[in-house]
Amino acid sequence: MTNRCSRCGSTSFRADRSLGGRLVCSHCGTPAGQHVRSARRTSVVPRRKGVRVWVILALMALVLVLVVQSL
Ligand SMILES: [Zn+2]
Repeated sequence: MTNRCSRCGSTSFRADRSLGGRLVCSHCGTPAGQHVRSARRTSVVPRRKGVRVWVILALMALVLVLVVQSL
């Protein structure tokens, strides 16, 4: 197995302690062995998280209004 970054093609890696000593690219930080395809899939997730954040914010605002009204 040749360690080569799937994103930028760099061959220099370093062990990242935050990832449990996993090898990550020293140029772009992509974990070794991670394919570009999976990186694209994860890029879809933040959109759903963004919607969820707005729902949580709306719920917090609703709770805040109820608390203010009860005072
Ligand atoms: Zn890289």
